[in-house]
Order: sequence, then structure tokens, then C-alpha cells
Amino acid sequence: MKIGFIGLGNMGGPMAANLVKAGHDVTAFDLVAEPPVGATKADTSAEAATGAKVVITMLPDGAILRAVATEIVPVLDQGTVFADCSTVDVDSAKAVAKMAEDAGCLAVDAPVSGGISGATNGTLTFMVGGSDAGFDTVSPLLDVMGQKTVHCGASGAGQSAKICNNMILGATMAVTCEAFALADKLGLNRQKMFDVVSTSSGYSWSMNAYCPAPGVGPQSPSDNDYQPGFASELMLKDLRLAQAAAMSADADTPMGALAAQIYETFVETENGLGADFSALLPRFEKRGHDPKVKV
Ligand code: NAD
Repeated sequence: MKIGFIGLGNMGGPMAANLVKAGHDVTAFDLVAEPPVGATKADTSAEAATGAKVVITMLPDGAILRAVATEIVPVLDQGTVFADCSTVDVDSAKAVAKMAEDAGCLAVDAPVSGGISGATNGTLTFMVGGSDAGFDTVSPLLDVMGQKTVHCGASGAGQSAKICNNMILGATMAVTCEAFALADKLGLNRQKMFDVVSTSSGYSWSMNAYCPAPGVGPQSPSDNDYQPGFASELMLKDLRLAQAAAMSADADTPMGALAAQIYETFVETENGLGADFSALLPRFEKRGHDPKVKV
């Protein structure tokens, strides 16, 4: 299939490489990064998109996505599918889809879970919003780049699923870290804490698969001095997107709001930038009880 690929960073680069490896004809553009071996290099987004049956974007945020969409939609053939795999705000996802559909194209939002290793190994999970026709066209490509795809509903539903998932993840990781710090102060051995919680009703992905305590549970970034993994600033981005969506949809999300505040403080004033999002554990270890919990 002839594919245009725009945004070749940590995620987009290996995703495009997997499409090339599967035999697709990929024309790729990035402001900085080079295309993978076997792809054709384009000099602009519009050049990458011209003549493509599917255009895939993997960009930093909604504002950049809207700018790229403005550049490429006028050159897309009728029936081309615009598939955005970036994590962006729901409103931008819907606006870009409408722009493409008004021009006679199809559009899906298809954000991913699974991180850089998932992108490299072709084991991402895709959560997709958009029409059946758009989904059916991109589905074989998503199967190349990932191992699981869920069609969540209409335009924006993929981004909605992504930010709800990551709001749960951020809040769960924060409470898992503070529970370990509390257990320390209560004199409870961390391994015993893991043995109980990982097989009791407090279990979660954060505890069982990504334990924030070094030397406890399966191998995770905590065993590598909290090198990411999934960096705290990326978690903060997703928690902010969840709060923007909550405001836009008039939903009450106090746990998500508090998690966003905690990661904001950690990233912006406590050297959390560049540390894995499970590095809240050493942060909580150093702190004492604060009676003023604000939301
Ligand atoms: P990145 O910063 O490594 O890559 C983004 C790329 O976009 C860069 O190479 C940049 O040069 C390029 N770019 C920026 N503006 C552009 C433009 N106007 N035209 C063309 N290229 C442009 O980011 P990433 O880690 O690859 O993440 C991409 C997206 O995937 C983000 O939305 C992120 O939230 C999401 N995501 C990332 C991870 C992760 O673990 N890194 C996991 C899941 C989802």
C-alpha cells in the first residue's frame, strides 16, 4: 500500500520502519528525523501525503497535528484515510477528522499504548475512533505495527479511551508509590507488601507489572535507577489532556486532577523531568504527612 508517514520520532520512526519491513511503499517526512531505511524521503508533509492511500501522523501535540492537517488535507485524494496515531486532545482529533471528511477523505484517530519498545517490536495496542470504512482500510497496517486493535467508536473515541486509560494509570501509580512510602514508615518489608498486594484486591498493572520499588516484582524502570520507560512529563501530558477533556465534557474527575497536580509539581519543580513516572516512590519517601490535600 502507498503510505505517507509524518513524524518520525521515538515512536513514529520504528512504526514506519515496520511498515517498510512488511513491504509497504512508505514516503516519510519529519522536520528533523531521517526516514527509516527503505522509505522514500519527502521534503514536506504535503509531499509525503500526495498520492497516498493512507497518511499516518505521529506528532507531539494537537496544535502541531492541526497545522500539519491544514497542510496535507488539500492534497489528499478522495477516499484517502488520514490516520492520526499521536496522543492529542479529543477536540483536535475531532476537528482534524472533520477537516478530512469535509474534503471527501476518511479519518481515524488511532492513539497507541505500548511505548517505544512496543513501537520497535510491532506490539503496540491501537485504540481507534472513526468510521467502519476508515477502520477497515487501516486495520491491516495497525496489525503490522501492533498486536491488538480495538475499534472504540466514532471520531475521537480512540483518544477518549487513551486518556481515560492513562488517567487510571497515573492515579494508580501515584497511590501505589505513596502506599510503598507509607509501608516503609510502618516498618513493613517491601517484598512482603508486594507479595500481599499483588495477589490481593489492591493489585494493579502499576504494582504487578511495573512495580515502582527497586528489586521487587518483575524487572521495571525502578531497577534501572528510574530511567524511562514512560517519562513523567509524558504522563503529565496525558493527565492534562484528561483534565481538558473533563472540562470540555463537564465531568467530575478529582482523582485525575490530583494526579495531574502531583506530576506537574514533580516535573516542574522537583527534578522529575526525564525520570520514569514510577519515580514518585523516591519522591514520596522523602516527604512527611501533609494534612492539606488540595484538588
Ligand atoms: P517525539 O518527540 O520523539 O517525535 C515527534 C516527531 O515529530 C519529532 O521527530 C519531530 O521532529 C516531529 N515533528 C514535529 N513537528 C512536526 C511537523 N510540523 N512536521 C513533521 N514532523 C514534525 O515524540 P514520540 O515519543 O515519538 O511521541 C509521538 C506521539 O506519540 C506523542 O503524541 C506522544 O504523546 C505519543 N506517545 C508516545 C509514547 C512514548 O512512549 N514515547 C507512548 C505512547 C504515545
